[in-house]
Amino acid sequence: MTPSKKTIRTGVMGWPVAHSRSPLLHGYWLKQHAINGEYTALAVPPGDFTKTFSQLPEQGFSGVNITVPHKQAALEAITLAGGAVTEMARHIGAVNAVVFHANGPVEGDNTDAFGFMENLREKAPQWKGDNPVAVLGAGGAARAVCAGLAGAGVKEIRIVNRTEEKAQNLARMFGPSIIPVSWEDRETSLADVSLLVNGTPLGMAGSPLLDLALARLPAAAVVYDIVYAPLETPLLGAAKARGNPVVDGLGMLIHQARPTFEAWFGVLPEATSELREMLEADLRKGETT
Ligand code: NAP
Repeated sequence: MTPSKKTIRTGVMGWPVAHSRSPLLHGYWLKQHAINGEYTALAVPPGDFTKTFSQLPEQGFSGVNITVPHKQAALEAITLAGGAVTEMARHIGAVNAVVFHANGPVEGDNTDAFGFMENLREKAPQWKGDNPVAVLGAGGAARAVCAGLAGAGVKEIRIVNRTEEKAQNLARMFGPSIIPVSWEDRETSLADVSLLVNGTPLGMAGSPLLDLALARLPAAAVVYDIVYAPLETPLLGAAKARGNPVVDGLGMLIHQARPTFEAWFGVLPEATSELREMLEADLRKGETT
């Protein structure tokens, strides 16, 4: 369909991007709120990112989401163009949401930390954050997780990463609450945690499995996997089997999208159970094809 003049154009830039559930998610809210808007998947190879991104406002885009592998490039492009990057996006070092203001600078934000924490509060309200936390990974998603946890007042965040230098960089960025832990020590680091987060792609469909025995993990510790395809990763399956409370990554995806939708369309949408069921059905379809 050719968008009319009044249609608010938005989308998601990624490479590849066909697997993204964001068009389904935003499409649901657009229909629910009867908004004249569109949200499309924009497959943009890394070499084309800066040029394509700079052309979006003249093509009538009001904003875009940015996904792998462009989140850092978006931050750089906005900074170079004299745009505004929120403190959160700068802190995390990545932009996942952009607003092209009609009469103002381009604005880049990062809503992954918000999405991560909202989902945790919703799905594990018993978690209080008063014990150490272990986070596997030190990439863009893990940095957002750290920003969320540090913002919630967690005093000790153990960053367990294959490349230890990256965990040390994170400690320099976020300060003394971050304790780098070597990948070899990942199981011993679980002994007294209240929350274990997988912030790596390990366990995702098409990625290697996460090699992690949970024997040392306290029985009440929450296990949160930000991977959502499959919905129940082998880590969550193992945690569930030994009685730990679990949180999957789909709610993070839904919640990170809410403030962005509001910035573009003026309505803060809800993470309804109907929306979640629709996305779950789509993920199940993906597992069987
Ligand atoms: P990234 O920047 O590429 O970072 C990947 C991290 O995983 C790095 O720390 C890397 O360690 C580690 N890793 C990769 N392969 C490994 C292996 N074989 N063994 C040990 N560690 C390994 O990726 P990202 O953007 O942070 O994304 C990570 C995951 O989060 C993805 O699966 C993504 O889909 C998911 N995610 C979910 C949401 C959501 O809304 N639910 C939002 C954002 C991201 P090294 O430093 O050693 O390379």
